[in-house]
Amino acid sequence: MKQNNKLSLFLSALLLIGACGRKTEEQPATPTNVIAAQTGVKAPKRYGDVDQARLSNAGADLDNWLSYGRTNAEQRYSPLDQINDETIDELGLAWSVELDTNRGQEATPIIVDGVMYISTAWSKVMALDAATGKVLWKFDPENIGAKAAHACCDVVNRGVAVWNGKVFVGTIDGRLIALDAATGAKVWEKITVDQEKPYTITMAPRAVKGKIIIGNSGAELGVRGYVSAYDAESGELVWRFYTVPGNPADGPDGAASDDALAELALPTWHGEWWTLGGGGTVWDSVVYDEAFDQLLVGVGNGAPWNHRYRSNGEGDNLFLSSILALDPDTGAYKWHYQASPGETWDYTNTQQITLAELEIDGETRKVLMQAPKNGFFYVIDCKEGKLISAEPYVYQNWAERIDLETGRPVETANARYLDGPQMVLPGGIGGHAWHPMSFNPETGLVYIPAMTVPLVYAHNHDYEIHPGRWNTGVSFTDPPASAELKGAPEERRAQMQAMQKGYLVAWDPVKQEPRWTIERDWPWNGGTLTTGGNLVFEGLPNGEFEARSADSGKALWSFQSHRGIMAGPATYRVDGEQYVAVLGGYGGSMGMATPDDRNRFVPPNGIVMAFKLNGEASLPAYEPVARPAPSPSDESFTEAQLETGRDQYFTYCTICHNGPTNPELNRTPYMQNADAWRAVVIDGALEHNGMANFRDYLSNDDAEAIRAYVNMLARDLAERETAPQ
Ligand code: CA
Repeated sequence: MKQNNKLSLFLSALLLIGACGRKTEEQPATPTNVIAAQTGVKAPKRYGDVDQARLSNAGADLDNWLSYGRTNAEQRYSPLDQINDETIDELGLAWSVELDTNRGQEATPIIVDGVMYISTAWSKVMALDAATGKVLWKFDPENIGAKAAHACCDVVNRGVAVWNGKVFVGTIDGRLIALDAATGAKVWEKITVDQEKPYTITMAPRAVKGKIIIGNSGAELGVRGYVSAYDAESGELVWRFYTVPGNPADGPDGAASDDALAELALPTWHGEWWTLGGGGTVWDSVVYDEAFDQLLVGVGNGAPWNHRYRSNGEGDNLFLSSILALDPDTGAYKWHYQASPGETWDYTNTQQITLAELEIDGETRKVLMQAPKNGFFYVIDCKEGKLISAEPYVYQNWAERIDLETGRPVETANARYLDGPQMVLPGGIGGHAWHPMSFNPETGLVYIPAMTVPLVYAHNHDYEIHPGRWNTGVSFTDPPASAELKGAPEERRAQMQAMQKGYLVAWDPVKQEPRWTIERDWPWNGGTLTTGGNLVFEGLPNGEFEARSADSGKALWSFQSHRGIMAGPATYRVDGEQYVAVLGGYGGSMGMATPDDRNRFVPPNGIVMAFKLNGEASLPAYEPVARPAPSPSDESFTEAQLETGRDQYFTYCTICHNGPTNPELNRTPYMQNADAWRAVVIDGALEHNGMANFRDYLSNDDAEAIRAYVNMLARDLAERETAPQ
């Protein structure tokens, strides 16, 4: 049945390509990986010439995409309409540049006066001629390779900020680096985190009033979240706001957050949350709301996830799972809205914040819109953070509704898994993750790359803190019988698996209901872009980059890029020609942690692609390379080894090695030899690739037990792959 679905999907994809007259024939790669037709574009008078006036007027600056979400409002909407629902048949590849790794690519390109600035996996930066793809410069921050083991969700990077002749990038090992926009030379570098702790940075910095705003990631591994502002010229720290209280015994931090933490947050925390930092990382959304001169900051989940372990099961735990409004000059607290008080599911509010003016009950309101992980679409008044409305944009079962008077959810029975295991939707990956959504003021719709991925939560009675490793306090057990899941355990597992879907939801934020929805066979679809040409662009995990009509959702165009696409596209204009650009390269948390047998091939390197009308370039030739066949040894292992190995495998390995992005352990040849295995796992022989040594966490016997378990997995896999279909 599943096979048939895939076949028909494949066939309809072919039909779609045929119907739209797409050129699908592939040309051999050109001698260089830059496929360009030089158009004589002039160099800008000054590289990276962005200031506050330009950012404030970015909406009318049609040639450019000056900041992460194009304008301060981060609507990811451009009025450009040369490429539109009538001309889309003529859209073709203008140029492409292959990247240096097949790790995930999440960056939105920034385009300033004909120059494109992107960040790529491992926090590298490139400047390219936006019309031709000619590489102007590259920068490698030379991260500590082993730091990859602290990256919950791949060594991705979501983009750069450009301000006053400089390009800014946050690195996976926690630095903020300023580069000369003309040359890529380093101007300054600041360490923004305690590098002994498992902090990482994957977010795009934002430039606001001469300051560069940057947060960090790492809640699952045990850190305390905060957001910082650095002076764009000198690199000096201007202010810092901690999102959760520290250990009261240590006294105030001397930070912008001191008063708000003491008065508002501290009374909402219990137990000894500080031992694991409490979480609350600011790892993605920051927008500048110019109308009220405030920064709106999305705050993440708790560390550990389980509220009972984090805070004795008591209190709201401010400012977890909240939107914070701060003074951009001083970092002073203005207001907050907490979506999931006492969160216990990995429900972050770090998802994209988009500003808009909406007509609600006859009144024009300046609002923020957010589709956070918890599955509700929130419309909130920007002035004081008052909730206007909240309705589920995907199926969810943890709350009856959001009470508009109190702003608090009315939770369903056992949503907190206090009375035994509970299948909760959305699961920890969220109804919507970091993948950008977009808002088209002409259609009035928000285009959300949404998903349903259920997760079974159970209180982990044996939980022990592992600083620097995965900390949830949750056991991910077999699904219990419920209204949604029936039958024997294996049937319930299959039903749960079948719930995994993606959706492109065209959401009406005023009516709080979908106008139309496209169902996808898989979750973790790419970010969206919408334009004045009545178009929505989105990339998919199967490598398609597609365009639909923004008003109706009708499929209009698609292009096969041979690598899964997650990143948000951008559009811009050079010499009167409109381009749409996107990065390809699959990964991120689902790419690392979710098994995916759909694709039997090693993902090719990532790519940056730009499209224009009558573009005639071709991608580099794609030769599918099969993933290695499992090759288990024929040694025998003891039951005790297999049991220990299973526990350690799920504690230490699966978060990075359970998906197609990183080497799959059930296919690695290292499993055949105890010495080779130990050299990698304990001695760090592959640290340069990002495989940290685990000698602080695992004994030699533990490592050998994991090898035993992996050999068992490999035998199972070999059996499945050789079995007749
Ligand atoms: Ca998280």
